[in-house]
Amino acid sequence: MKGESTGSIACRSCGRELATAETVCPACGAMVGSPAPGAGDDPWTEWAAERNRVKTLWVVAVLAFWLTVVVQVGFFVFRRELDLILVSIAGGAMVLGMWLKTRLQLHQRKEPPRTPPQRSTDGGG
Ligand SMILES: [Zn+2]
Repeated sequence: MKGESTGSIACRSCGRELATAETVCPACGAMVGSPAPGAGDDPWTEWAAERNRVKTLWVVAVLAFWLTVVVQVGFFVFRRELDLILVSIAGGAMVLGMWLKTRLQLHQRKEPPRTPPQRSTDGGG
């Protein structure tokens, strides 16, 4: 097992090792320089934010797929021909949606333990 490496930092977004001088990850373009004070404290909050981001992208991809399919069906009904551009867009959206769903499932497995809530002296029931 490797110990903690000093002198280099890892990208929060893609995990790539970066030199401390880097402020923007060359691989994914994420800001890595100085974390916002107090904001990136909780790993669960970061995890949830990333999950929401992937989930939103996935929903957009699914919507794009169905929208393209509906338009394609309309085209086919009225003009009796397939629009190759629409078909390729639908195929691309489908592949993208499947990829994002896989990514979302993998991300959900990595859920960090949530910080325990503040203990309150609430004796109600
Ligand atoms: Zn990165």
